[in-house]
Amino acid sequence: MATEKVVKSEEEWRQLLTPQQYHVLREKGTEPAFTGQYWKTKTPGTYRCAACGQELFSSEHKYDSGTGWPSFWRPIAEARVNTEKDFSWGTFRTEVLCSRCQSHLGHVFNDGPPPTGLRYCINSVALDFVAKDAK
Ligand code: FE
Repeated sequence: MATEKVVKSEEEWRQLLTPQQYHVLREKGTEPAFTGQYWKTKTPGTYRCAACGQELFSSEHKYDSGTGWPSFWRPIAEARVNTEKDFSWGTFRTEVLCSRCQSHLGHVFNDGPPPTGLRYCINSVALDFVAKDAK
């Protein structure tokens, strides 16, 4: 299924999102570790993009990385996220963005568990959790 892109002006995003969501999603901010809503969450369900609602990550691929951010070893599907090289703060990292609305979600690192060895380190505030039973 081809993904319909969501394109909005920064002014529109500003009106739709809370200031904290706007800062992370649209200004590539990072929430402080261990402060977000979902780093400990183990409830079965789906994590959606807080900006456009696309389903991004599943509780099935979530694990406790000890970092204080929700961590996943894969997205629901490769096509749900885009990655970009990020050289900010004097280090090289790989940024993770929602493929539908190009909002910043977090970063992906190579120190995750098998089978992928990846750690998608995602800001809670960039996600909207929907419990399986609630669907
Ligand atoms: Fe999105």
